[in-house]
Amino acid sequence: MITINPLRVGTIYCDKGKTITQGVDNGKMIYVPSVSWLIKTPTEKILVDTGMPDTHTSHSFHYHGSYQLPGERIDQALKINGIKPEEITKVILTHLHWDHCQNGHLLPNAIFYIQKKEIEFARNPSGTYFRSYDHPALGLTPAFEQYPIKELDGDAEIAPGVSVILTPGHSPGHQIVVVHCSQTYVIAGDAVLCYDNLLPSMQQDYVLPGRHKDSAETQKVIEKIIALAGATHRILPGHDEKVFRKKEYF
Ligand SMILES: [Zn+2]
Repeated sequence: MITINPLRVGTIYCDKGKTITQGVDNGKMIYVPSVSWLIKTPTEKILVDTGMPDTHTSHSFHYHGSYQLPGERIDQALKINGIKPEEITKVILTHLHWDHCQNGHLLPNAIFYIQKKEIEFARNPSGTYFRSYDHPALGLTPAFEQYPIKELDGDAEIAPGVSVILTPGHSPGHQIVVVHCSQTYVIAGDAVLCYDNLLPSMQQDYVLPGRHKDSAETQKVIEKIIALAGATHRILPGHDEKVFRKKEYF
């Protein structure tokens, strides 16, 4: 049997309309969780995303007012859940934005599965994306450059029952994770930031995530995720408090 546990790895303070739900609740400041996912299969322990950096870095360089409490750094969050960091053999990074890929060096036995397209864009971002990727041009150090990486070029099976699908839109090399527990769950990364993104609005079929590289692709990806999951409650968004309603998905 395969199970999934959501781990809180920090809290981000942001403008809902600008960041989470495009054009809806503009100017409303909210707190959203940064989430990592622990997947336990009969033979291994896999993580999806490793979360955000410490309070000082998050607050100073990214979203003012964001924080990571003691116990929320990924290695500490694992220990609280009875898992030693060295037990993690694989880490799937949905994408390389600052709040999804930090502190991987604290997982000494993990190989990091990242899409080639995401690595290329992280190294050579455009427009407003330099900060999202901790780009060296800003004097920052991208965490992923220190990791042992397995580059993926499209969809792939990572372990029996655990697969990734390339879903560009939020970022050029974004990937989602499909997990076959007793039901099928889709760990959506930032392709779906919160359950509100799945609600139709007056202007469009869905309330698109506030921040995305390509809106047409983002919309297509949401439709794909809904089809794969079959029901909203089997979609696990990247930044929604509601995912913690359950301690374990199975
Ligand atoms: Zn993101």
